Amino acid sequence: MPIDRMIEKAYELVQKKRIERVGDGVYNVVGEHGTYLVAQRIDGTFSCTCPGFVKRGRCSHLLAVLLLHDPLLLRSVERQISKSLGNKKSKRRKA
Ligand SMILES: [Zn+2]
Repeated sequence: MPIDRMIEKAYELVQKKRIERVGDGVYNVVGEHGTYLVAQRIDGTFSCTCPGFVKRGRCSHLLAVLLLHDPLLLRSVERQISKSLGNKKSKRRKA
């Protein structure tokens, strides 16, 4: 999955309130293919139980939790996404 798409998905998860805090640094994230557990490690980094994270070390669930934690990051992602949506729209208008 391209990183842009992953960020978009993560943003969607935050918007749709698919993230539930179940404990200290532990979150249930309801993804498209199942519910995964995102947990913060002692070193401050997060891990996820989904196959994508196990394979690649990153996933939209984990990004979603990061966005939830960092309002500044969330806002900058918001801007990027609305910009890219605007580009798509203007392309469609030309076509
Ligand atoms: Zn995941």
